[in-house]
This record gives sequence, C-alpha cells and structure tokens, in this order.
Amino acid sequence: MSKKPKAAIFDFAGCEGDELQIANLEEQLLDLLNIVEVVSFREVMTEHSDDYDIAFIEGSVTRDHDAERLKRIRDNADIVVAIGACATIGGINSIRNTQDHEEVKQRVYGDKGDMFESWDKAKAVDAVIDVDYKVHGCPIDRDEFLHVVKSLVMGKEPNIPDYPVCVECKLNENVCAFERDEFCVGPVTRAGCDACCVNEGTICWGCRGLIDNPNEDAHMEVLEEYGLTPEEVMKKFSLYFNWQEEAREDE
Ligand code: SF4
Ligand code: SF4
Ligand code: SF4
Repeated sequence: MSKKPKAAIFDFAGCEGDELQIANLEEQLLDLLNIVEVVSFREVMTEHSDDYDIAFIEGSVTRDHDAERLKRIRDNADIVVAIGACATIGGINSIRNTQDHEEVKQRVYGDKGDMFESWDKAKAVDAVIDVDYKVHGCPIDRDEFLHVVKSLVMGKEPNIPDYPVCVECKLNENVCAFERDEFCVGPVTRAGCDACCVNEGTICWGCRGLIDNPNEDAHMEVLEEYGLTPEEVMKKFSLYFNWQEEAREDE
C-alpha cells in the first residue's frame, strides 16, 4: 500500500473482547496509529467513515441484517480480516448451534423471543463473505494482531502458526492434561497462544480453531501416547467450534 491505509473495525455478535484488546494496546497503540488511519471503531470513537482499505470484523453472524451489513463492508474494503474466535470459527455463540433454537430463544429472551431476529445457527464470517486473513483466539492476542496489521501494510503474508498447541505446551514442559484424566484438544488446535491455558493448569479448549490439516499435522506423539486419533479429538471441539459448513450458501 503506497499511502497510510485506512482501517475500520466492526463488531457483530460477540462480547467486544477483541476490540478491547485493540483499545488496550497501550504504548503499542501509537505503533498501530503510525501505520494505519483508523476511520471507524465504534467502541472508542464516534466518527465513522465508509472509506476504508482494511476492515476488521469481530463477532459471529446471526441474522439477515448482519449478512447484509457484512456484504456492504466486503464491497468497501480491499482486505477483510476476521478477528477472534466468534468471527473466525463461530466461537462461543456457536454453542447454540447444537441446541434447539426455540429453547435457546426462550432461555435468553423469555416470552419475547419472537421480537428478535436470529438464525438458528451462529456462523463464522467466512460463511457469508470472503475473508482474507484471520486473527485467532478468544480474545485475540494483541501482539499477533499488530503483527498481522504490520504485515498487511508492508504487503507481506502474516506469519500465523500452523502447528498444534501441544508443540508450545511441550516446550513449556507442562504436565499433559491427559495425565490428569482431562481431555484437551491441543493436539489439533492451532498454536500461537504459548499454550497459555495449559500453562495455568487447565486444558486447551480450542479457541484458535483447527490447524489446516489436522489429520496430517496433529501432534501424533501425544495422540499415540493416549490412544487417540485426530478425528476423536476434533469431535471434542464443542466450546468454540460448532460452525462448520462445506460451502457458503451463495456459492
Ligand atoms: S472471540 Fe471471544 S473475545 Fe472475541 S467477541 Fe467472541 S467471545 Fe468475545
Ligand atoms: S494434549 Fe493439551 S496438555 Fe497435553 S501436551 Fe497437548 S496441549 Fe499440552
Ligand atoms: S490454550 Fe487453547 S483455549 Fe487456550 S488460548 Fe490457546 S488455543 Fe485458546
């Protein structure tokens, strides 16, 4: 990009935790503002412009209105980046994809459920529009976000890990969760978080989504040790990753 690109940040169904990560870049915020002009960011500014080069999308897609808005954003932007698990893989919202929609509405809205438009499934952004890049995690990692923005501005491919969380976990010399009789989806989950949840004594729930080729690139050593296959681990992706579709509906 020859001039300072204009960036816009949009939110859909989500908790805005990824936007908070960006707003909380602290001293690194200047690094961001030195390389992009932020023209729209509802969480921190009142100004808004539809003239932007890069659109960052947080949140999953849950209704027709979202889909229409996303398509307008796609038309306006040269580059679309999905940020956070809700946008990249459906995220927490997609837990309801496995449940009865009427019951879910009743639980959330009581007898007012019919007043709110909502699909029976929460979808990732790339279920509706083309997405050029993804920043994974729930929430996103600030350094990884900055790395992606800097790469895009310099016209380079961002370096996003495509190996499992187990690799980072082993480097950190953690005791494997399977040793504690807990089930961990780290063998097929994309690394890049330094296995932070396991470092804290819990498990990996898979917020960064699957590695590109889980059947080939899963952490086989861990799987063999505990008598598992990649498919068996993938079936346990129930917290963040309940949106999977072969192809978009408009294709
Ligand atoms: S990915 Fe996580 S932090 Fe981001 S909007 Fe969804 S729930 Fe919030
Ligand atoms: S399965 Fe989980 S706890 Fe065990 S090595 Fe992999 S990431 Fe670490
Ligand atoms: S360890 Fe797993 S759940 Fe935790 S941040 Fe990393 S990918 Fe997400």
